[in-house]
Amino acid sequence: MTASKSRPYAFDRFLRYDELTEWLHGTAAAHPGLMSVASYGRSHDGRELWLATITDASTGPHDSKPAHWVDANIHAIEVTGGVAALYLIHHLVTGFGSNADVTEAVRTRTFYVAPRVNPDGVEWALADSPQYLRSSIRPWPWADAHQAPGLHERDINGDGRILTMRIPDPTGNWTVLPDEPRLMARVPATGVAAGVARYRLLYEGDIIEHDGFTIPLPPSPHSLDLNRNFPSGWGTNVTGSGDHPLSEPEIDSLVRAIVARRNICGYNAYHTSGGVLLRPSGTVSDSALPPVDVWAFKHLGATGTSLTGYTVHSVFDDFTFDKNETMSGSADDWVYDHLGVYGWTTEFWDVIQHATGKKPSTHIWYTGPTGEEELAVYRWAMTNCPEAYADWVPFDHPQLGAVEIGGWDDVFLWGNAPKSLLLAEVRPHAEFAVYQALCSPKLEVLHTRVVHLDGDTHRVEVGIANTGWLPTDISVRARKERLVLPLTAELSGAKVVSGGGHGNARQELGQLSGRLGLNFNYAKNDGTPERVLAAWVVSAKRGATVTVEVSHQRAGRCSVTLTL
Ligand SMILES: [Zn+2]
Repeated sequence: MTASKSRPYAFDRFLRYDELTEWLHGTAAAHPGLMSVASYGRSHDGRELWLATITDASTGPHDSKPAHWVDANIHAIEVTGGVAALYLIHHLVTGFGSNADVTEAVRTRTFYVAPRVNPDGVEWALADSPQYLRSSIRPWPWADAHQAPGLHERDINGDGRILTMRIPDPTGNWTVLPDEPRLMARVPATGVAAGVARYRLLYEGDIIEHDGFTIPLPPSPHSLDLNRNFPSGWGTNVTGSGDHPLSEPEIDSLVRAIVARRNICGYNAYHTSGGVLLRPSGTVSDSALPPVDVWAFKHLGATGTSLTGYTVHSVFDDFTFDKNETMSGSADDWVYDHLGVYGWTTEFWDVIQHATGKKPSTHIWYTGPTGEEELAVYRWAMTNCPEAYADWVPFDHPQLGAVEIGGWDDVFLWGNAPKSLLLAEVRPHAEFAVYQALCSPKLEVLHTRVVHLDGDTHRVEVGIANTGWLPTDISVRARKERLVLPLTAELSGAKVVSGGGHGNARQELGQLSGRLGLNFNYAKNDGTPERVLAAWVVSAKRGATVTVEVSHQRAGRCSVTLTL
């Protein structure tokens, strides 16, 4: 890598790929005991897919501790999510040693952060002459970037932004808002008075094979949606789902990286927009999920809301406009359905709430803002980021003739936080990530005892507890599907005479409850469902030492050495 020429990064702009790569490696180099960076694959265009691993190496390797996974920017234009992922890394490495929660989390847990799942698409979105895609730059469903007849989005006047084209049209659906003449308002059902100018609005772009009368809105030649390419619920009836589950290198690599890290206990994907914390299921109602899992989601989410102000929603129950057209094949559904891990999709930034103080309808992705909401956002933007709305400037369009180009910079106001507000928007979410990590299970040896039997025979006891909040296998879903390997305790250093009922040095001890499980007990009668006692009868000289290694794929590893 070449020497750094970049400015220091204060989470106040969106980094292109080369600068992101440099920032990641530079941050890791500055915190060698805490952070490493490695590639987990390559994108369609050949870019390395970076994963930052953050944990205190002095307390054990990353895979010996429960882990929380965060990724961002599976969707190309949702670049605020990438800023939030980089800020989380910064929060962890700079807070270690000064912030008590961060220190505890980095000492006892591991964080995996993949800040740019889809680097190719983001590079197009952040280019000087941008192109806005849903996800990947791989042409799909046609292999040749075939442009079907109709409108194709492009920065046609070369000003570096893709805005709106305004065309005079006596039957158009838009008119100028009298109070704010730069802003457009929908024509009421009964029309407007004669002589009032009406317009048709279109995204800035080219009209392919224009027939002089109609303007179809065909799918983009780049119609893949990488967040529909995961195996859970994958279907060809879902927009952009790809050729088959994991058909795209970015998602195949991501899934393999997650599955290879069997210590992952929690997952969060960073997207925009909406100012909401979305959770599974995308395909069925809460009533079809185990009630304890719904309770756990709501309990985790309540802290998310109190830290971030974002509301919590089931994708299916709250965010699916037509219940027959579900958002399936997504990452959060996959981690819950196939791994039994609580997965979240954070949708950063809600400009309407900033402008009005109120949350819009959860169906806004389908309906768009109301006229009142758009006017409020306009007035808010004129104070806070006036560059987000452009004057209507005449332009000689190659197919349409005289048009005007102007209006909202949709992607960088409605879709992402303005640069001046980025840091404030993403900062609280790092605390939610730390909280989720600290809710994971955690193995500890709380009790040991050696009882001398006769001669060189001794009974060795090791009392193991899950001192974390979640159970060792995380969810009811994981328990029912047996998705998680059991706890094991293995004794070495002496001949085992009997143990675990089988005389084995290695005992399989099942799953341990967490403190969450004690919440489903009306009688204040806890018992000890989070504990287990492992015992062996061993034969060795008095004074010899034995070691017991305690291990669980998710809850971590620890060991204890005893003198006989
Ligand atoms: Zn998204």
